[in-house]
Amino acid sequence: MLMFDCPYCGVTADETELTAGGEAHLKRFGPGASDADFEGYLFMRANPKGVHFERWRHANGCGKWFLAARCTVTMEVFGTYAAQSTEPPKALRDKISEKRPGWTWRDFS
Ligand SMILES: [Zn+2]
Repeated sequence: MLMFDCPYCGVTADETELTAGGEAHLKRFGPGASDADFEGYLFMRANPKGVHFERWRHANGCGKWFLAARCTVTMEVFGTYAAQSTEPPKALRDKISEKRPGWTWRDFS
């Protein structure tokens, strides 16, 4: 079972208390963007075998959205952080790199 620490209320919640919100850190495109960029924003999602950054909502708790780093192979949760973050905190990236040497995802490593 997946267990996440909500960064807002501090509760350690299992996946039954949460709602998955898909990939985190999407680059948004709106009016004026090319059709290809907008199509990619709407439909294209990463599906890595390994570390993935995801959006989760503490639906049966405080109700707030947060972001999490999770391994899609082992289901290990590396950490959670505020939904307003534009990129994963350095401490979290360092923790992932320590456990998964050579790990990279987008521009993060
Ligand atoms: Zn919460």
